[in-house]
Amino acid sequence: MRKYFKVYIFLIFSMLLCFLTYTTYAYKLTKKVLKHSPVKNIILFIGDGMGYQYLTAYRFYKNRVPFKNVGLTSLDKYLVGSQMTYPFDNDENITDSAASATAMATGYKTYNGYVGVNEKLEPKETVLERAKKLGKSTGLVVTVEVNHATPACFVTHVKSRKLMDLIADNYCDEKILGKNKVDIILGGGKKHFLREDRNLIKDFIKRGYAFLDTREELLQACNTKNNKLLGLFADEALPKAIDRLSDIPSLKEMTQVALSKLKNNNKGFFLLVEGSQIDSCGHKNDIVGAMSEMKDFEEAFEVAVDFALKDKKTLVVATADHSTGGLSLGKNKNYYWNPFIIKKVLKTPYFIADMIAKGCDTKEALEKYISFPLTSKEISSVEKAAKDSKAAAILEIIDKRTNTGWTTIGHTGEDVPVFALGPNKDMFRGFHDNTWIAKCFFKLLF
Ligand code: MG
Ligand code: ZN
Repeated sequence: MRKYFKVYIFLIFSMLLCFLTYTTYAYKLTKKVLKHSPVKNIILFIGDGMGYQYLTAYRFYKNRVPFKNVGLTSLDKYLVGSQMTYPFDNDENITDSAASATAMATGYKTYNGYVGVNEKLEPKETVLERAKKLGKSTGLVVTVEVNHATPACFVTHVKSRKLMDLIADNYCDEKILGKNKVDIILGGGKKHFLREDRNLIKDFIKRGYAFLDTREELLQACNTKNNKLLGLFADEALPKAIDRLSDIPSLKEMTQVALSKLKNNNKGFFLLVEGSQIDSCGHKNDIVGAMSEMKDFEEAFEVAVDFALKDKKTLVVATADHSTGGLSLGKNKNYYWNPFIIKKVLKTPYFIADMIAKGCDTKEALEKYISFPLTSKEISSVEKAAKDSKAAAILEIIDKRTNTGWTTIGHTGEDVPVFALGPNKDMFRGFHDNTWIAKCFFKLLF
């Protein structure tokens, strides 16, 4: 027996060696097949309401010559696929922002209006919550109320998007591993944080946040040490990009400040940036506002692209939650969509109508904010319009001159584009459901 002892030991040792070699090889092989290495930083851009038509329109609008060799937008070259947007419902197959954002945040379809919960109202973990659990920093940058449907679906779990005060409370009170879920919160919605029943701004400051409410304070925040910011720059939504005065930051500026803070965490970050009001302009059938919001969105996207190209550990994905308004380029058999007219309107028709409502003479207001000559018939159409229809009369002039069509003041159900760059961008290639965004992020966040 003793003479075989050495042989046994040798056999056992060889088997162990074989096993170790095989498992290492198998592990390497699986990794190679899956090709998913963890990503340090994720930035998700959502153009609310940004269907394909808005991108095409913006491409023409952006170019000096909208014929022949039309130049690209900054998003175009990163297009990787499309996604379906329909909600979980028996009666409705056109989504709202809450159901679509819940799908992209949690990987679960739900009813329109539900926030971060599935169809049974069960709370589902969001990619932002997962990032926080992993010790990453998190941020929300939007141009509507920070507690509006889209951002809310990434942070909290409530049965209706309308519960905006409760959503704001949850931003402050809900914790992950003893920490607030979102480190950087920038956008509008101050009235939900400064209420008769509760001063959330005070509570956020108590929890270590710096509070900002002007553009100047935001830009200075880059030089401060505090990596937790609550910036609320309007009581409700921010004005549309083209109507903003100099005290309101752009989406680009908010994104820059957010990145300057989030990058300080060695474990990485998750950031949601929403071009929130492409949708609002779609609802109002306002092509002037919509193009200014597209520009705002594109400029913020460019900031993230620059960051990701330098950093090399950042995945950037951009998409839309649905399209809005049934925008069409061309109408009444006209084969020319005219972006030059839009460029010559210096404020949204709603802003101009508001000036008239505040006592400005109609003709003077039109001449001040519209830099192409209007016909007397056009001017009188606005003069004759009732007080609350002035904006509609101006919109009609612009739509007619540009050949812009609209079919609804609600959402529409077409597929939407998906753009991606950075590590693992190929996961988003092809045609998917909107739940795929969250499913991929969960795979990459470990
Ligand atoms: Mg939204
Ligand atoms: Zn909408």
